[in-house]
Amino acid sequence: MQDITSTNIQALERMISEARKISIVTHQKPDGDAMGSCVSLYHYLHLCGKDSVRIIINDRYPAYLDFLTEGIPAKDLIIHQAMPTEAEILLRDSDLIFCLDFNAFHRTDALEPYLASSRAAKVLIDHHLSPDRSAFDLSFSETDTSSASELLYNILMSTSIIAQNAEYLPQMSATALMTGMTTDTNNFGNSTYPSTLLMASSLLSAGVDRDAILSHLYNQYSENRLRLMGHLMKDLLTLTEDGVAYMVLDRKTLKEYSVEEGDTEGFVNMPLSIAGVRMSIMAKEDEGKVRISIRSKKGTSANGCARTYFNGGGHENAAGGRLRIPEDIQDISFAAEYIEKHTHIYLDENDESN
Ligand code: 5GP
Ligand code: MN
Repeated sequence: MQDITSTNIQALERMISEARKISIVTHQKPDGDAMGSCVSLYHYLHLCGKDSVRIIINDRYPAYLDFLTEGIPAKDLIIHQAMPTEAEILLRDSDLIFCLDFNAFHRTDALEPYLASSRAAKVLIDHHLSPDRSAFDLSFSETDTSSASELLYNILMSTSIIAQNAEYLPQMSATALMTGMTTDTNNFGNSTYPSTLLMASSLLSAGVDRDAILSHLYNQYSENRLRLMGHLMKDLLTLTEDGVAYMVLDRKTLKEYSVEEGDTEGFVNMPLSIAGVRMSIMAKEDEGKVRISIRSKKGTSANGCARTYFNGGGHENAAGGRLRIPEDIQDISFAAEYIEKHTHIYLDENDESN
């Protein structure tokens, strides 16, 4: 927690007290950690007496996260794809912008130019590798932590209002932190540090209902999602001799199973359960590109592979990126060949036994 110093916390508190209009932004295709950290900070800022706080996101979050935003008025939650002008004006007129769960402006997709040109003070709270610190007035960046939510928890605990007592966090702020940590660790399946369990313990003691959170996150999926999972694992999963497992989901299949955003969450992790698999990749056809998710076992870098061959990045063992059409591949039918070829080269170049 190198950036959580008393100097930085005082600077943060001063920036908050001087700000009138505050925006909170996160990465495109927001997941549980992205929305959890945004919602938690929103409620904390209200506790600080701030009444002009907006969460501004590029596109909608998955429906299973709706419970997080129930207590937030519609005027305070702006989706750029639905209300571009409003989102752009709000960013331009903000005097303080929080950037949560991403390391560089381009991760917000369409918000990038408005973040870059805004004169607002900017605060980064993130847990990805290689943060672009120069773009921020104050950076809290920590990679040895489960999630942006855990980092935010430690920041909030250090503020004078919360004073290391999680019971002082607004209920929904605490619930949102537990939610973000839970999704980014796959319910304590990865990236779980001693500090993560301490956080979980004090949030539980403060009254967070973890059973309710788990029910929202993992027991509300559509029937189609489970059937798609069966189809993927049975018919679409390919294993290479290099220990790479990959699945390509084309638009036809996505349509056939009426796949919604968030429905494929978690599928990419599953092939790692196979002995000998070092890396798992899921490719999903999208407008003008193929979205790539990569997961790896210890000793193989998902981040390195995403950066080198898939126009992306992320964490050591969980990363993402994209194949551009037509720059990288002509169309989705070339995705399998691209993945096999480039993971082969990558693993060959980076084989730890060499
Ligand atoms: P997912 O596969 O769940 O979309 O992403 C896995 C992780 O990699 C997430 O932490 C996500 O923020 C990060 N990630 C996904 N795509 C990109 C990308 O294009 N660039 C970077 N730097 N990180 C990404
Ligand atoms: Mn995260």
